[in-house]
Amino acid sequence: MTEKKILMIVCDGLSDRPVKQFDNKTPLQAARKPAMDAIARHGMSGTMDVIAPGVIPGSDTAHLALFGYDPFKVYTGRGPIEAAGAGIPLDPGDVAFRCNFATVDGSMNVIDRRAGRIREGTAQLSKALSGMKIGDVTVQFKEGSEHRAALVLKGPGLDWHVSDVDPHKEGNTLQARALVPGAEKTARVLNEFVSKSNEILRSHEVNVDRAKMGLPPANIVLPRGAGGIRDLETLTARYGLKCAAVAGVTLVKGICRMVGMDVPNVKGATGGLDTDYRAKGEAALGLLSSYDFVFVNVKAGDIAGHDGDFKGKVQVIENIDTMLGLVLKEIHEGVVIALTADHSTPVSVKDHSADPVPLAISGGGVRVDGVREFDEISASLGALGRIRGMELMPILLGTADRAKKFGA
Ligand code: ZN
Ligand code: ZN
Repeated sequence: MTEKKILMIVCDGLSDRPVKQFDNKTPLQAARKPAMDAIARHGMSGTMDVIAPGVIPGSDTAHLALFGYDPFKVYTGRGPIEAAGAGIPLDPGDVAFRCNFATVDGSMNVIDRRAGRIREGTAQLSKALSGMKIGDVTVQFKEGSEHRAALVLKGPGLDWHVSDVDPHKEGNTLQARALVPGAEKTARVLNEFVSKSNEILRSHEVNVDRAKMGLPPANIVLPRGAGGIRDLETLTARYGLKCAAVAGVTLVKGICRMVGMDVPNVKGATGGLDTDYRAKGEAALGLLSSYDFVFVNVKAGDIAGHDGDFKGKVQVIENIDTMLGLVLKEIHEGVVIALTADHSTPVSVKDHSADPVPLAISGGGVRVDGVREFDEISASLGALGRIRGMELMPILLGTADRAKKFGA
């Protein structure tokens, strides 16, 4: 058996729900997409719960699963989730925390863990903290809902194994401690951040105004739930694959780098609606000549989904299809192609949803089923059935004759 190459194309947020005003069709069902349909027609289809049934994937956790990693194991702590929610992208090595704005007295006793459930002024307070430098570490800080906020520390030599500063009840603030050797620097930076937050916030005009109104001041930040994404076994170490990625958006590029892919810069690949599809397709073809596994992410579908723009999403699908047509023309049986999405971003929801995504695989030793079109409903009738995201890589390795025998 000769080992085949693998091309994984992930159309970000492409998957959708039927929309009443458009004949109860999904954007995929409404679009003209001969290349996508050809992949379905010449291969096998299925649907995929990218993380697990009922779990709404973020793009980061979804991509980890698509590359075969268990996001519940490698995506640690609630901090990263809070950071993702606040829109702070995490790079490998960053440490993220969930935080509360709280009220302390002069001797750092916590009087109110939620600063009177502060609602107004948290954006100004956050601005006063974000961008702070502590040695070679940069602080990113963003308010969440009410008293909640996210903190991300960016810098060399950080480790998320540190204890909470938040005492979880009224009383003395805690000092963060390293929970493993090597996390001492993070604990020190975190403690310094907390005391600086007190210095900066106690005289902030938002708190001066709160004092006038008899409200408890939000005069400290209490971080907890440290987490990060880091130190993953690379795809090369795991599967013996030389890997490269074509992606425009920073978050996805970061994850690709973290799993050991080469991520060359592609001119015009922006991660936006204006991305150069042709350039992405050509870059993927170029990389296939020297890499075993090439990954392509096209972000635009997710953006149209968040905008609730049905027609825009149909247009994105047709643009991606043109790119795919170009790629298919140059590709032969020796390449296994997987076409899928990292999650659904239904235009009716304007956000990610837990709905499974369609998947089609063609080339290599693939079995050909009866599915003739690439969309959410057609795919559910395919030979792959309903799988999980983490199963995709092993299935692709098997189809590409790269799986290892188990037993004699
Ligand atoms: Zn996504
Ligand atoms: Zn999104």
